[in-house]
Amino acid sequence: MPQHDILVIGAGLAGMRAALEAHRQGASVGVISKVHPVRSHSNAAQGGINAAMPEEGAEDTWESHAFDTVKGSDYLGDQDAIEIMAREAPDELIQLEHMGVIFNRDERGRLGARSFGGASFARTFFVADITGQAILHVMYEQLMKAQIYVYEEWFVTSLIMDDGACRGAVAIDMLSGKMEAIQAKAVIMASGGLGRVYEPSTNALICTGDGISLAYRVGAPLMDMEMVQYHPTTLPSNGALLSEAARGDGAYLINSEGERFMGNPRNPYHAPNKMELASRDVVSRAERVEIDEGRGVNGAVLLDCRHLGREMIMERLSQVRDLGIQFSGVDIVDDPIPIVPGMHYQMGGIKTDVEGKTSVLGLYAAGECACISLHGGNRLGANSLLETVIFGRRAGSDAAQYAKNIDLPRLSEAVQSDEEKRIQEILSRESNGDVAAKMRLELGQSMHKNVAVFRDAEGMLETQAKVAELKERYGKVAVQDRGRVYNSSLLFVLELGYMIDCAEAIVASALDRKESRGAHTRLDYPERDDENWLKHIMVYYQPGEPRIDHSPVTITHWQPQERKY
Ligand SMILES: Cc1cc2nc3c(=O)[nH]c(=O)nc-3n(C[C@H](O)[C@H](O)[C@H](O)COP(=O)(O)OP(=O)(O)OC[C@H]3O[C@@H](n4cnc5c(N)ncnc54)[C@H](O)[C@@H]3O)c2cc1C
Repeated sequence: MPQHDILVIGAGLAGMRAALEAHRQGASVGVISKVHPVRSHSNAAQGGINAAMPEEGAEDTWESHAFDTVKGSDYLGDQDAIEIMAREAPDELIQLEHMGVIFNRDERGRLGARSFGGASFARTFFVADITGQAILHVMYEQLMKAQIYVYEEWFVTSLIMDDGACRGAVAIDMLSGKMEAIQAKAVIMASGGLGRVYEPSTNALICTGDGISLAYRVGAPLMDMEMVQYHPTTLPSNGALLSEAARGDGAYLINSEGERFMGNPRNPYHAPNKMELASRDVVSRAERVEIDEGRGVNGAVLLDCRHLGREMIMERLSQVRDLGIQFSGVDIVDDPIPIVPGMHYQMGGIKTDVEGKTSVLGLYAAGECACISLHGGNRLGANSLLETVIFGRRAGSDAAQYAKNIDLPRLSEAVQSDEEKRIQEILSRESNGDVAAKMRLELGQSMHKNVAVFRDAEGMLETQAKVAELKERYGKVAVQDRGRVYNSSLLFVLELGYMIDCAEAIVASALDRKESRGAHTRLDYPERDDENWLKHIMVYYQPGEPRIDHSPVTITHWQPQERKY
């Protein structure tokens, strides 16, 4: 049985940052990823990473960054965690620079920032519109330099529990099909988001909520799962993202009348001060209203970049331009491009404390799969990359210290053989005509129809019934390919199981929250209700329906106020 002090599941930014820190503190570390590390979804991040950097010439402060985040969260974010993020951001950014990330500079040669939604200052630092890719590649270099062992293209199927604590994971080596139990004193889950529970989504096809479900199944509660972010600018054809950087750099949103609707009081979600740079939940709602009230263009509104000029677009938004040309046949230099709100990010996830600890001993979580509740009801753009590096580092550090004080467990060989039997049972099922890909599409479309920008009980109950039906069908779905080598058909079935767990938790939480807050806007409960709902929703796994509980929101400095942009 391979063994490490720390096993990190996921080689995106959170996982690699955690691994580097644990290694620095002397732990032996293994990192496992179902794709090559630089193909993790962090690679797709375009717009940038936030930090209040007064030393770079702005009048910004960490308090302002923290307050903007609290307000962006619609006061559901936990303020102790938000304070840590805002305070530690500048140092973390400088560390990234020292590792080798070549951030854009301003005309004076200082780090140059762009504006992002919901922010009081331009504090989003960036590398053109390929920020995630730039950071991820540098982080991978660091991982190689530290000679940290990577299980590349290994797929985790379950967590190993021993005497109430998490002590490793069982995984399939995709190349050979071989299964292996990997032992560890502590496991850090850094498996990314669940975007593909929705269809379409801006997320890569691999974002299927695996780690969220794995942790949930061993008893870690999920928190804020009802808070699903729809991004205001996604392509109608395939759901691909056009970065907020476009609006950050000055692009307009216009309706069929050519009007910047974010400034028109006719729209209940207009934002006279921030206009296009109100927070994402607000802008997505405003767009939906324009489209639903007949001021859209073929079911979309328009993102207009023409006035930015060719030179600026080529220098700072070239990927946005390429995406528009490739998938919509529109060159943003010459024409406005149709966009719609689309599923983008999961604010909720595995509940952790500020050191990344979950409530399961030995199990940590960091990055998009985790919920420290930095983002509460709505994440501000460019706070997520920041979360991955700060809280990845913190989880790596705490796990390394924890591992120092315990011995490696003596696990029984049955851990592996039991899991092999479970997978073999799935592989040997006879087809009943149902196909995992079809079920996945049914799931995603139902979520997108009913648990989206606007929600109500009727629609959510319909999706709840759909999820229950899929859960039932899932127990019998067969794998089309019975081979061992690169059996993507098997992995697809396993991913579907993870996605169904995530969907069930989202719908249960969304039905529970009887108010409108952040990304959770209910037509049947249109007002925010601080008296009854200024609290987190926690979901626990149990056979049958999940169990729901509530926990208080941590407030340090900022009492809830009316939220206006
Ligand atoms: C298109 C797009 C643009 C974005 N732009 C920005 C931006 O500009 N700024 C910002 O702050 N945020 C942005 N975000 C959000 C941000 O990129 C993500 O939240 C963040 O990168 C997630 O990092 P992570 O390390 O948590 O997970 P990921 O980078 O998604 O990595 C997850 C890892 O887990 C592994 N994994 C998952 N399941 C398994 C399994 N079963 N077995 C083995 N390995 C597994 C994967 O292989 C992968 O290595 C964007 C997101 C998208 C989709």
